[in-house]
Amino acid sequence: MTGPLVPPGPLTTGTELNAVYAIARVVAETYDTETGLDTVFRLARTIFIFDIVSLFLQDDQTGELEPAYASALGRGRSREAELTWGEPAASEAYRTGQTVLRQEDAGPSVKGRERRRDYLGLPMLVGGRCVGGLVFGRFGGPSFPPEHIRLAEFVAWHVGQLLENRRMAHRIATLEAQRELARLQDEFISTISHELRTPLGFIKGYVTTLMRDDVDWNPETRIEFLRIVDDESDRLRELIDNLLDSSRLESGRLGMTCEPTRIAALIRDTSERTKSAYPEMDLRLEIDDNLPPVEIDSTRISQVLDNLLSNAHKYAPESKVVIRAKDEGNYLRIEVSDHGPGIPGEHVPHLFERFYRVPGNSNTIRGTGLGLYICRKIVDAHGGEIGVNSNPGKGSTFYFTLPVTFAPTIQTSENNNEPE
Ligand code: ADP
Repeated sequence: MTGPLVPPGPLTTGTELNAVYAIARVVAETYDTETGLDTVFRLARTIFIFDIVSLFLQDDQTGELEPAYASALGRGRSREAELTWGEPAASEAYRTGQTVLRQEDAGPSVKGRERRRDYLGLPMLVGGRCVGGLVFGRFGGPSFPPEHIRLAEFVAWHVGQLLENRRMAHRIATLEAQRELARLQDEFISTISHELRTPLGFIKGYVTTLMRDDVDWNPETRIEFLRIVDDESDRLRELIDNLLDSSRLESGRLGMTCEPTRIAALIRDTSERTKSAYPEMDLRLEIDDNLPPVEIDSTRISQVLDNLLSNAHKYAPESKVVIRAKDEGNYLRIEVSDHGPGIPGEHVPHLFERFYRVPGNSNTIRGTGLGLYICRKIVDAHGGEIGVNSNPGKGSTFYFTLPVTFAPTIQTSENNNEPE
């Protein structure tokens, strides 16, 4: 079968001509294969008679033909299309690369005209390669006359073009995804190098200064320098922990050890830790009484809270910060609210993506865009939801929920024993 843009031989009626041009247009303009196939076959039905049509395509992995599409358009349309109709005709056309006609007897159990089945199998060519078979079936005879076969070949060629369009669209999407990945990797390397270099630069600078033997540092200055070195080492460690967590979360290797936990106690511990880290923060707690216990990995949920609080400290300095915990029946809802600058709406949908940072902030406040991504992954693993309600100029409320009766999938001990 060659590639006819119009069917070989003269077109007999105006209807045929119209349908042929309409099919060619659909193929040129449609990128949604399923809709394209529906339309092409509906148009084909106006120029030759068939009851069912089915498409079988080669599976890339196994090389076997698999049903990909089926539709009952003709007299059999009251029945559901069966994906396996005409499979032998499709296989033969696929194997031989030729148009084939098969007549089947469905057996005495099938009553009426559906017992005799004529299948027209056509090889499916995509990008010059035979990738499957297209089958038109007629029930109850007569068989397909030669002029219908040539119209069917024309339709098959155009279905091949539709599939080619899909293949190209898929290829373009893959290439774009690869390009985007390469771009993100480059961006990642430059962000991370910058983030690692900054604390390292401080550490090196202050240690070198302290080691100078031509200066006698007084004890206060010495302690102040050492405190900076200590803080920057913490930052470095936190950054490396975040990077490791994020790559483990991405590959599903971060283990969770869940136990029944009282969230109120966990929130109080976290708030004590936050107050000693940021003594100037005006931090309040509003915790409902008698919250039911939740089945959680308390280290990981503390990590989520720590992250939200450290963000409130970074992005909403000097603002009052409130942690709320509410019983919502099947869920506990935990919120961290601040009265900081808030987040413009267009950035909200991306905040929990890996490495996403709101552009304006990135220049002035240090960060990697990993914190909220890690929070989302941890909350997801607990079967909860995380989100933010933010009002630019007024503040943000980050929240997450934890199911009250939930037994999360605990990772295998092999995963849990992974070295730190
Ligand atoms: P990082 O703080 O390292 O940039 P996060 O993933 O924790 O990464 O946060 C992503 C972005 O969300 C931040 O860069 C910041 O722009 C924004 N953000 C997070 N918390 C707040 C907040 N409380 N107020 C305003 N913006 C915030």
